[in-house]
Order: sequence, then C-alpha cells, then structure tokens
Amino acid sequence: MSNLSTPLNIQRRASLREHNTFGLPALADILVRVASDADVRRVVDHPELGIAPKFVLGGGSNVVFTRDLMAVVVKVEVMGRRLVREQADAWIVEAGAGENWHDLVAWTLDQGWPGMENLALIPGLVGASPVQNIGAYGVELKDRFDSLDAVDLVTGRSVTLGADECRFGYRDSVFKQALAGKSVITRVRFRLPRPWQPVLGYLEIERKMHDTGVTAPDARTVFDWICAIRRAKLPDPAVIGNAGSFFKNPVVSPEQCRDIIGRDPEIVHYALADGSTKLAAGWLIDACGWKGKTVGRAGVYEKQALVLVNRGGASGAEVVTLARAIQESVYGRFGIRLEPEPIIL
Ligand SMILES: Cc1cc2nc3c(=O)[nH]c(=O)nc-3n(C[C@H](O)[C@H](O)[C@H](O)COP(=O)(O)OP(=O)(O)OC[C@H]3O[C@@H](n4cnc5c(N)ncnc54)[C@H](O)[C@@H]3O)c2cc1C
Repeated sequence: MSNLSTPLNIQRRASLREHNTFGLPALADILVRVASDADVRRVVDHPELGIAPKFVLGGGSNVVFTRDLMAVVVKVEVMGRRLVREQADAWIVEAGAGENWHDLVAWTLDQGWPGMENLALIPGLVGASPVQNIGAYGVELKDRFDSLDAVDLVTGRSVTLGADECRFGYRDSVFKQALAGKSVITRVRFRLPRPWQPVLGYLEIERKMHDTGVTAPDARTVFDWICAIRRAKLPDPAVIGNAGSFFKNPVVSPEQCRDIIGRDPEIVHYALADGSTKLAAGWLIDACGWKGKTVGRAGVYEKQALVLVNRGGASGAEVVTLARAIQESVYGRFGIRLEPEPIIL
C-alpha cells in the first residue's frame, strides 16, 4: 500500500493493450494506479489530474477501446481480503477492489465460506463486480452483496453504499447510470448465507448431475463443474481476445414472446418472475448465421455466438462494426434491438 510520502504512480501516454482482455490498441493520456482511498483523494486533489476527465479501469474485461483516451485512467489496485464477521446466518467477507475476482471466489471456498461458486472464473477484478451486477449460472452479485466503499471523484469523499443505493438490475447498477464515471469503488463486502444452499437450477449444471450421478454436490464440486463448463464454451482471453458476452439477453413482453415463438418455435427463452421473458441473445445471433463468421480482424466465436473475438490485431472500430452488423440482422429478422454489454469507449 502506498502512503502520502510516496509519489502517485503516474504514466503518460500509456498503452492500454495489456489492460483490456480484447487486446485492443489504445493509449491513455495519463494512467494512474491507486492502491488506497487516500491515493484516490490525491488524484482528486492533484492540480493537473484533479480537473481532467477520468475513466476508472479494473481488469479491462468488459471494455471496448475504439480510440485513445484523452483522460486520466484510474487503474484500481486496492488489495486485501478478510472475514469481517461470522454471524449465525452468514459470513461477511470483504475484498479490495483490485483483487482478482476468481481468486477471491476460490479463496472463500478454501476458507470454508461457500456461496460464490456459481460465479467462478468470471474475469476481472472485485471492484467491477457491482458495476454490472455480474451474474452466471443462476446467481448474481446482488444475491451475495452486503455493502461497498467508494470514493467520489469530484469531492474525494468516501461513502459506504448498501444494496438499495446500488440499484442493482440485470447487468446494471447505479454505477452504470447516475454514478457512471463519478466514483471509484475501493472495497466490496459480501454476505454469504449460512447454511449454504446450492443453486443448481441451470440446464448445464443439471446435465453434470445427470452425467456424474452426483445429485447433492458440495460447493467445491459446483465450483469445479462451473469452471469446466465455462472452459469448454468460452474463449480464454489470454489466448483469444474477447470481452465475454457482447450483448445482453433481451427481455421481451409476453405478447412479443408469443409472436416470436409463433415464428421460431425453437427459440431459447426463460420465463422471468414478472411475467416477461428473457431470450437467449446467442441463439438469435446464431439463427442469423453469424456463428464463426469474421469481418476484418474481428469475429464471432465458433462455440458461442454471443462472444465476439479478436482474430489477431483487430481494432476497436472493427469490433464495433461487426457488432453493428449483428444488431442490424437480428433487428431485421426478429425486430429486437440487442444492447451491448461492455462499455464502448
Ligand atoms: C471470457 C469472459 C467471460 C465473462 N463472463 C461473464 C459472466 O459470466 N458474467 C458477467 O456478469 N460478466 C462476465 N464477463 C464480463 C466481465 O468479466 C465482468 O463484467 C467483470 O466484472 C469486469 O471486471 P473488470 O475488472 O475487468 O472491469 P473493467 O472491464 O475494467 O470495467 C468495467 C466497467 O466497470 C467500471 N469499473 C471497474 N472497476 C471499477 C471500480 N473499482 N470502481 C468503479 N467503477 C469501476 C469501469 O469504469 C467500466 O465501466 C466476462 C468477460 C470475459 C472476458
């Protein structure tokens, strides 16, 4: 951890290629690494950095850089993880925003505090997990969230926010809306309910139960299954540049859903509690013939049409051109507008 006597770690004209999992080329006017709340305040109070526009960067696994950033990129490196308290009904665990997400999930399991296993192997850092309310295999961050600490990028004030103030939605939170770009999340606390209850109601997990004959898996087994499922169907960003799912799964009204199913009975869809239906965006893209296609140096992953990939040396503009072409053909065939999940800059 830095203290007030060490100078801020500032880099000018810094390459962001190594800081985004798509491997897209871009330069940051200034890149500053922050390891504590005090560092964020020093950025805010800095005569040059304080007044410049800012972009907060975690692991870069949910961003698409289409240009150089004429901004101060605040790279979050706040470390540390600990058990805050053990309650009769939950373990409360805290992690610094700069901790690796998957390592945190594995560490909590090692400590005997299960509950985050369905979220294993999601790339990125802890600080970004509330931003889009990360989710996978039937669990969302909000289901395991207690509170977070953040520092305001204008006033330098620290705040603690609970779940209501974070306004979590499907791949959404106040940090993508009213507070977008306005604060740096520095620590997140998780509430892992006791006794542990597995979340198994997902087709691929049910298939694992069927194939292995294990009908009451422990948390470690679920963790291993999730890792295996993800490795089999998602490209490893260390090998093929990508940002995971490129589009959100669209949510449609019952009327729209009836209309679409009438035309395409095969469509993959999930009923939601409020009566609406979530459609599998990957299925819509595949149905339009995009799986495995390449445009320029960007492409659609062979095993999962929802994932756009860097075939080698792609620019952000090429990725966005491909994304727009996909949006147009899905709209043309189904009348549905796909919304990108990553932040496009
Ligand atoms: C192969 C692959 C699979 C994926 N699978 C999933 C999945 O199953 N489910 C899912 O939900 N996502 C998934 N993702 C998307 C991504 O991993 C998550 O959104 C992750 O939380 C992003 O973390 P990051 O640290 O890389 O954030 P970044 O990409 O660095 O940033 C994302 C956004 O969060 C903001 N941000 C980052 N850190 C902070 C902070 N400390 N304070 C304030 N704002 C911040 C940034 O400004 C930006 O707007 C996947 C991505 C890949 C590449």
